[in-house]
Amino acid sequence: MIQDSTSKTKMTFERENIRRMTGYTPGEQPDVADVVKLNTNENPYPPAGAVIEALRGIDAEALRRYPPATARPFREIAARVHGLSPENVIATNGGDELLRMTITTFVDPHQPVGVAEPSYSLYPVLAAIHDCPVVRVPLNADWSIPSDFAKRMNDEGAKLVILVNPHAPSGRLTSIDQLACIAADLDGVLLIDEAYVDFVDPEVNHDAVQLVKQYENVLLLRTLSKGYSLAGLRFGYGMGSVSLIHPMLTKTKDSYNVDVVAQRLAEAALKSRGEAAKTWTAVRTERKRLTERLNALGFSCPESQSNFVLARMSESAEAGARRLYESLKELNIFVRYFDQDRLRDKLRITIGRPEENDALLHALEELL
Ligand code: PMP
Repeated sequence: MIQDSTSKTKMTFERENIRRMTGYTPGEQPDVADVVKLNTNENPYPPAGAVIEALRGIDAEALRRYPPATARPFREIAARVHGLSPENVIATNGGDELLRMTITTFVDPHQPVGVAEPSYSLYPVLAAIHDCPVVRVPLNADWSIPSDFAKRMNDEGAKLVILVNPHAPSGRLTSIDQLACIAADLDGVLLIDEAYVDFVDPEVNHDAVQLVKQYENVLLLRTLSKGYSLAGLRFGYGMGSVSLIHPMLTKTKDSYNVDVVAQRLAEAALKSRGEAAKTWTAVRTERKRLTERLNALGFSCPESQSNFVLARMSESAEAGARRLYESLKELNIFVRYFDQDRLRDKLRITIGRPEENDALLHALEELL
């Protein structure tokens, strides 16, 4: 029994660690139509035509039956795209489900999960659900990963370490070489969350799939939410060695974890990825323009390889960033403000369509 805020006695059925923890706070999803929504890193362009066609082509009979339990047709396509075998691929209900499954499959309750700080705030929430403590290693001032990162994680006994690359919320890209060193040195599993990797400049030649082939402890997370404009579909996938994928595929995933609509659309999305790639180019062009314009307005934005930029206010005034976020919201322009160490003087701004970015820039000019 516990006391609630009105002092009435109230039953609790939660496990102790669930009672203690706080849940994830998603970005706002305003239900008014006429907003400039630059707060949750969605792709501003529509999904590919082939995906819409696949949606229209789904018949009632497909809904009556159970879907392929391990999403084999999708896994075959993904394996072809990435030069792997289907045994190296698992389909999940959004990238978030892969994160949850990785923790519950590879980490015992009470064993530490390691993260770089700051990063995606869902990681500690999922660790808390599984009753795992979190080891937080702060990133360097330029958001790079400290050179003794793997050693510190090993010293703390981390069984699983999660790194987001490109980094959220800064957009900084860690090189394959540094990731390879971390993978080689780490005692536990290294999950590289590549939610935003589609937006990396092609000239960088960034390809972490080679790490999957070299290191048995590397698991990559991909999602169709950002690069493929399908955040509403809830489809992601993992790539890794058979020793990482097989236990999840055969033991710890839900019986039918991705539904038939999601599977059909995800297959179409990967097959037509050239169309999605056009949106990645458009986002990169606007990323460059928005960064330049924000810098000219007095913000400072580190180079981003993602579909957002982290803009620091010139006087690093914490109250200033929050006030600006609130003033923009009054104008129906949504960006993300994090009430968190090292982020209180910054705004994370998703790259929108040119007219949306112009609306933001115009509002900032007026407000500043
Ligand atoms: N990783 C990061 C860093 C993210 O920002 C997100 C989306 N919020 C995800 C993973 C998971 O995305 P989804 O579940 O939509 O695939």
